[in-house]
Amino acid sequence: MTDPAYIEPPPSVEVDVVIIGGGPAGLSAALNLGRARASVVLVDAGRPRNAATLRSHGFLTRDGIPPLELRKLARAELSAYPDVNVLDRTVVTALMPTDSTNGMRFIAALQGRGERTPPAVAARSVLIATGLRETLPSIPSLRAFYGMTIFSCAACDAWELQDRPLALIGETPDLAARARLIARWTDRLTVFTNGVDVIDTVEEAELAASGIVVDRRPIDDLEGDRGAVTAVRLADGGRVEIEGGFVRPQWHPALDFVNGLGLERDEFGNLVADRSGRTSVPGLYAAGDAASPGPQQLIVAAGQGARSAAVLVHDLVGVRTAH
Ligand SMILES: Cc1cc2nc3c(=O)[nH]c(=O)nc-3n(C[C@H](O)[C@H](O)[C@H](O)COP(=O)(O)OP(=O)(O)OC[C@H]3O[C@@H](n4cnc5c(N)ncnc54)[C@H](O)[C@@H]3O)c2cc1C
Repeated sequence: MTDPAYIEPPPSVEVDVVIIGGGPAGLSAALNLGRARASVVLVDAGRPRNAATLRSHGFLTRDGIPPLELRKLARAELSAYPDVNVLDRTVVTALMPTDSTNGMRFIAALQGRGERTPPAVAARSVLIATGLRETLPSIPSLRAFYGMTIFSCAACDAWELQDRPLALIGETPDLAARARLIARWTDRLTVFTNGVDVIDTVEEAELAASGIVVDRRPIDDLEGDRGAVTAVRLADGGRVEIEGGFVRPQWHPALDFVNGLGLERDEFGNLVADRSGRTSVPGLYAAGDAASPGPQQLIVAAGQGARSAAVLVHDLVGVRTAH
């Protein structure tokens, strides 16, 4: 029977910084914090959002690199810094404030597969770099083409699709704006609203003036083979041939574990942070796609991670920065 006077011992692991999320934002922060002689535990569930794609584009010196290769290279670099430890396939299930006297301000509860995963880590500061989750429109075969010939980020993947007949599929009010952007890369673009009323008649006329077709019919499915999409099949039996395209997912921050901390969120649920990544809770920082909306790109996330690391180091020693 458990002794009622028993008090859970404090977590045995205490560090300067816990980084939650091992994508480019978290990895870049870990590298820079390691170089600043901070003790770091990086906790990563290992489910990168871009795992669906074979090649990542637009990362200086690494244009076209497979996403997992980029992570592998970053992880190899971290191994040079003994105070940076990585907990793989481990999830932070809860993040709690603590008022311990030794400067530890947060406790991160962990759930990992390895026997050596500690139950929790205490930290002076925390960087949240958990990225986003996405929900795609409900089209049966969409996932089979996603990351192969259907993408979500024009800056990342439109170059490879340029001058082809393309689809843009989405159910959100920003669809017309996205269509105008994608039209930079092709003059054969059809926008599919999947039966949802998200493009008004004024927008439709503007798009038509640029040669962009709006198709409001519900979608039955996509056709194609081995990731190569060939057509959008409509519920009324119609069929529009394409050779690639874009989808507008709904994005949700992966932040269930911060409930109860009173962190300020924006209208999309993202963490509100200043440009250096400081959130509304002292000692808690955010970087990458989990922070307020901006370009969702690997190099941007990595840059934000580096910037947060620099500010975090100054804050840890109480030195004001110009950032
Ligand atoms: C299909 C696709 C293709 C893309 N192609 C490109 C491209 O070509 N070029 C480009 O620049 N960008 C591309 N992107 C965008 C890019 O992937 C993101 O902008 C980038 O990965 C964001 O980095 P991040 O570090 O913020 O988050 P992520 O890379 O999403 O990493 C977050 C990490 O946190 C982990 N995590 C989440 N919750 C927890 C938790 N509670 N505990 C522990 N770990 C947790 C996740 O498992 C994940 O490993 C693409 C995105 C998609 C979906």
